[in-house]
Amino acid sequence: MATKPPQSDPVQDAPQVAGPKHAAAGLPAIGHTLRVAQQQMGVRRTALTLLRVNQKDGFDCPGCAWPEPEHRHTAEFCENGAKAVAEEATLRRVTPEFFAAHSVADLATRSGYWLGQQGRLTHPMYLPEGADHYEPVTWERAFDIVAEEIAALDSPNEAVFYTSGRTSNEAAFLYQLFARQLGTNNLPDCSNMCHESSGSALSETIGIGKGSVLLEDLYKADLIIVAGQNPGTNHPRMLSALEKAKAGGARIVSVNPLPEAGLERFKNPQTAQGMLKGAALTDLFLQIRIGGDQALFRLLNKLILEADGAVDEAFVREHTHGYEEFAAAAKAADWDETLAATGLTRAEIEHALGMVLASKRTIVCWAMGLTQHKHSVPTIREIVNFLLLRGNIGRPGAGVCPVRGHSNVQGDRTMGIFERPAPVFLDALEREFGFAPPREHGFDVVRAIRALRDGEAKLFFAMGGNFVSASPDTDVTEAAMRRARLTVHVSTKLNRSHAVTGARALILPTLGRTERDLQGSGEQFVTVEDSMGMVHASRGRLDPASRHLLSEPAIVCRLARRVLGEESTVPWEEFEKDYATIRDRIARVVPGFEDFNARVTGSAGRPGGFALPHAPRDERRFPTKTGKANFTAAPVEYPELPEGRLLLQTLRSHDQYNTTIYGLDDRYRGIRNGRRVVLVNPDDARALGAAEGSYVDLVSEWKDGVERRANGFRVVHYPTARGCAAAYYPETNVLVPLDATADTSNTPASKSVVVRLEQSATD
Ligand code: SF4
Repeated sequence: MATKPPQSDPVQDAPQVAGPKHAAAGLPAIGHTLRVAQQQMGVRRTALTLLRVNQKDGFDCPGCAWPEPEHRHTAEFCENGAKAVAEEATLRRVTPEFFAAHSVADLATRSGYWLGQQGRLTHPMYLPEGADHYEPVTWERAFDIVAEEIAALDSPNEAVFYTSGRTSNEAAFLYQLFARQLGTNNLPDCSNMCHESSGSALSETIGIGKGSVLLEDLYKADLIIVAGQNPGTNHPRMLSALEKAKAGGARIVSVNPLPEAGLERFKNPQTAQGMLKGAALTDLFLQIRIGGDQALFRLLNKLILEADGAVDEAFVREHTHGYEEFAAAAKAADWDETLAATGLTRAEIEHALGMVLASKRTIVCWAMGLTQHKHSVPTIREIVNFLLLRGNIGRPGAGVCPVRGHSNVQGDRTMGIFERPAPVFLDALEREFGFAPPREHGFDVVRAIRALRDGEAKLFFAMGGNFVSASPDTDVTEAAMRRARLTVHVSTKLNRSHAVTGARALILPTLGRTERDLQGSGEQFVTVEDSMGMVHASRGRLDPASRHLLSEPAIVCRLARRVLGEESTVPWEEFEKDYATIRDRIARVVPGFEDFNARVTGSAGRPGGFALPHAPRDERRFPTKTGKANFTAAPVEYPELPEGRLLLQTLRSHDQYNTTIYGLDDRYRGIRNGRRVVLVNPDDARALGAAEGSYVDLVSEWKDGVERRANGFRVVHYPTARGCAAAYYPETNVLVPLDATADTSNTPASKSVVVRLEQSATD
């Protein structure tokens, strides 16, 4: 029997701590999966639903963007994927009665966990100006309210259209089309906060802002470097791929300020051997200092350049630009300073070099640990330098592998969700739909918050997500949101962004990925693009949580017709009725989607989807400004750490997916029933007088002189790298200054925040 949602907010400030685990998954993962699934869905629905996740005729997991293997297991999902599905397919409901019982002021006092556990939204809800309770509203009235506010704007650039990475390709394509026909490129998305640094660095160096490896390449690699990523929690099925690669002879180097159980040993629940013994994954663990990755790869590049015959001269000569300048900069790197920036020993670097030189096919995988720093773009460029030196791009078993967080974040960008669209994309849009899209670049996430704060933007519309919790500088972001005339959230479940509203607010409940989507022409499917550029279909199989829900495409089409009226050149009604007509247009506007419907339905041969073209991977052709793969020679940067301070990284617990909190445990790190914890190296803690179990306030210090505080964190002595600490977001996003962003990509620098610990009044 599914259980009821928690009535009161569970106590969260008394965590139990038991020290880190050294293996991931196994029997405990099965236990947790079934417990959470049963609580949300009950037994029968659990079986019906989980067996359809990531299957060829099923629905795509709304969790991360890890690709599906050619041959799917019966249970083709991980523990955290099951939690994501269970929370969407939950039997719990948030009805108008719920909103009558809970004022916005009350909801604003609730934890993200409690809000998320209440269940699925059932009706469109409206918060009139001056009111304190949401009330039910018809869809027509809801669209009228948005149309009124848009009509009242002095310019379409006073509106912001945000996208979270769960949005399907079809909905994303329509959403950007609507915003651009309205006249704005204000299309920030969650990628601005996660892999924007990857996109910026890769576009400049190899000509395309996406990873160059497919799943099969991981199985062919003989060296895999996993840097700034915790796959055990954030991309758990990646562990199966690493296990398979190891079985094929690959060696693994993990680079992280924290030892992570998932990279130590993987107990694959799909096999008896896996369950009992498991497989050791990491061969070399480099416990890097936060922000020391560019320095690490610079030193490896220096040593490769100094090693005889280690450079793939033929590849460098034929396919690259800028080698001389880069080589000079790398050879000139000062050992002592650069080594100190890594926090590693020379012996560790040379051990890694030995593995690099023994490798013929190397892949580097990374995630937020590399992308959320001031110098993230130069860091990722240095990784490209590292791979170019030995020709590890554009051949099987080798390449760049940024691992995306959200299930369709890459697809949304491919569909045009980007505040800095390429002119060639806008030209194609103009040709296809006969209107002149705006050419002026729009707001990314950080600029959108500034615009709302400064009154430049007055309307905020979000397609999914939990913007206020995902964004940095929480107090500034929430105040900015409250300055808006209207805030609109297309959502499946309740979250904090519904309690931090503009003068007026709307919640528009939409279908989940697990649910059947019936439109005028019959049952519809949508498509997504995974982290490796594979596009595939997702077919919902469950009855919708409420008959009052609309699909994301239907919401955009009806809103566009209401706002843009009959003079719009876009066949919104046709698109709503039959998504195949949307895909036909995508096929004509977006390169690589030719014959889209035939290829994604399998009627053109390969069921299960198709790989998008990737010139560097497929042809060793690099569509950059130089027409070659570009070496770069940026100076090595790393975060400075004043005396008596720590470098804090914000991160997820194991019971969390982005800002969605599934539970209060972080099993692999030995933390239970609490989230306000700060992980500190025991020697640092002693030096700072922070006893195990004591409570501290975290105070971030930044050049704007503003002190940002997060109070009441339990000190946990943890084997982090010296000088480095860690705590969960969104609780610590308040510490990340809005203007502390990565150069070039403007991604919030959430992984290197200088903090001091102050004895907490609560201690
Ligand atoms: S690895 Fe990612 S996509 Fe796959 S089941 Fe887990 S959360 Fe879902």
